[in-house]
Amino acid sequence: MRAFKLFRITNCFFAVLLFSAGALAAAPEQSPPAEGSSERNPDHQPNMEMKKIGLAIHGGAGTIERSNMTPEREREFRAGLERALTAGYEILKRGSSSLDATEAAVRTLEDDPHFNAGKGSVFTSAGTNEMDAAIMDGKTLAAGAVASLKHVKSPISLARLVMEKSGHVMMDSEGAEAFAKENGIELVDQKYFFTQDRWDALQKIKAAEKNHTSGGGKAFLITDQDRHGTVGAVALDQNGNLAAATSTGGTTNKRPGRIGDTPVIGAGTYANNATCAVSATGDGEYFIRATVGRDVSALMEYRGMSLKDAAQAALDKVAKLGGNGGLIAIDHQGNVTLPFNTSGMYRGYVDANGKFAIEIYR
Ligand code: ASP
Repeated sequence: MRAFKLFRITNCFFAVLLFSAGALAAAPEQSPPAEGSSERNPDHQPNMEMKKIGLAIHGGAGTIERSNMTPEREREFRAGLERALTAGYEILKRGSSSLDATEAAVRTLEDDPHFNAGKGSVFTSAGTNEMDAAIMDGKTLAAGAVASLKHVKSPISLARLVMEKSGHVMMDSEGAEAFAKENGIELVDQKYFFTQDRWDALQKIKAAEKNHTSGGGKAFLITDQDRHGTVGAVALDQNGNLAAATSTGGTTNKRPGRIGDTPVIGAGTYANNATCAVSATGDGEYFIRATVGRDVSALMEYRGMSLKDAAQAALDKVAKLGGNGGLIAIDHQGNVTLPFNTSGMYRGYVDANGKFAIEIYR
């Protein structure tokens, strides 16, 4: 425990160093800043040379409780989130686009086996890995989405390529992978996506299913950790442009060919400079039916709701349908909100005041 605390302190120190130009404090496990917090914080001296920027990331929502987590595992998750946040924030700080920042943050999480996207993708019922991803540019409302990919190492980068070079918005499976190959995107063998934890989760769910249909009395503890994940990022850049990016392996034991909310523009991913950028995670079927990303934006646009209220209203709609999960959203002023209706969500943010935080539990 002490060693863990020490790590967290060292970790914070490291973060402060990393973010020295823009960060005011490293504050793990703090709640997100109140919207308009710069006005409520008269002592804060914003860096006048830097226009407002902001970034939020998530690594999936679900039953994530301290009691089920070893200090070591928590450290690994925190380190992964911190790496992604750093990758995206460095890009924003040097004046590059929110598209570049969200893509970089998501790519970092795709390469990390702890998260259900890219390398750490969950398995389908057929024992394969099938990935979905999407990216959206809030300035132009251009969007790129890919689904049911089996060999693309970084699905988010293919989504960006679809947006910028294909003339289409959405592509799937072999056609999308042929397009990837033509454009020099890295393809890998399915073996690359094998992780023992995800494989074990599939076996556990299959055993529970079998037990259930045969009327067996054995108890299986299936947690969201076994089923879910998904990673995403939303950002505001120095030019006032918003972007959202989301990537996932979907849900464990999904049918081959099943596509979740992640690549559905207006459901799991949405960005519009007039309002906000949104990336969601959770029970994809419900997030599609509740058109979550677009709803957050529409509530702000047509009802004049704040980012926070709009995001909560959209998530409440998911819950009312019976779905669980969370979302991250940022508006054009750099306000950030990260609501979820599960016990935890892997998440992190750097707000418009340069405040940096990594959080996991409620
Ligand atoms: N939303 C993702 C999907 O349904 C899964 C998740 O976020 O855990 O594909």
